[in-house]
Amino acid sequence: MAWKWYDSTVTKIEAVSSTTKRFWVSLPETEKISFKAGQFVTMDLPIHEKRLKRWRSYSIANAPDATNELEFCIVKLEGGLGSTYLFDTLKLGDTIRFKGPSGGFVLPEKVEKDLVFICTGTGVAPFRSMIWDLYQKKKAYRNIHLIFGTRFEEGILYRQEFETLLTKIEGFQYDVALSRAPAVALPSSAWKIHAGYVHQIYLNQYETVRPDLDFYLCGWSNMIDEAVENLILKLGYDKTQVHYELYG
Ligand SMILES: Cc1cc2nc3c(=O)[nH]c(=O)nc-3n(C[C@H](O)[C@H](O)[C@H](O)COP(=O)(O)OP(=O)(O)OC[C@H]3O[C@@H](n4cnc5c(N)ncnc54)[C@H](O)[C@@H]3O)c2cc1C
Repeated sequence: MAWKWYDSTVTKIEAVSSTTKRFWVSLPETEKISFKAGQFVTMDLPIHEKRLKRWRSYSIANAPDATNELEFCIVKLEGGLGSTYLFDTLKLGDTIRFKGPSGGFVLPEKVEKDLVFICTGTGVAPFRSMIWDLYQKKKAYRNIHLIFGTRFEEGILYRQEFETLLTKIEGFQYDVALSRAPAVALPSSAWKIHAGYVHQIYLNQYETVRPDLDFYLCGWSNMIDEAVENLILKLGYDKTQVHYELYG
């Protein structure tokens, strides 16, 4: 299937940590984009003369709604052509050409199992979309556990939003793991900031295999490879219970 290409306009850019920015783009009123929470688009960035070397994929970070706006949450990679362009050259009012939406990293129509979302850094983007989608559309779900990893406290993406969602969404558990900083004591016991990696959190909590939950992983290969190995080989979960979106 040939994907449709869209020309979007950059409407807002916001730095959220020293290496991460949120980008909002808008489509003309004559266009309509429909996507599922968890999907991504592929941008054609002006960074190379060869078409295929210009393409970079980014998860849609907002939930599907009736607006023509999309949000992306992107980390700047040292020496990365695409992310450096987005951070250092792209400005408000510029055009971003993208195709999509694509990808099968989506929740089933009917969520009948507990959901454990494991991510590092901007890998949180599809989960933000899924969580808001479940909440806003009042879809049925059981429990949601978001396990987010980053190096330092300043890198906790969408922190306030998830803190607020804890008070709104029943059965929502939120854990953060800081790999280069100590645990942080929080005034509320509703969620926790641990020291270490995401792995320790799910290894502890889901050590006993349960058929009534599914794991969704998103991020880079170092985290995903280890998590897949832990869940399937170490703990013994069935591979149909482990879904992932690999960023690179
Ligand atoms: C389906 C999908 C969805 C994605 N969604 C997002 C998203 O929402 N947000 C986001 O920030 N990125 C996302 N990515 C990653 C994104 O597509 C680019 O790969 C990323 O922005 C790097 O592109 P670049 O042009 O800056 O670097 P490049 O010039 O392409 O690469 C630079 C080098 O760095 C390596 N590299 C890539 N990532 C890392 C890393 N984390 N640590 C160390 N080395 C690395 C590459 O393998 C390459 O060798 C997604 C990728 C896929 C496949």
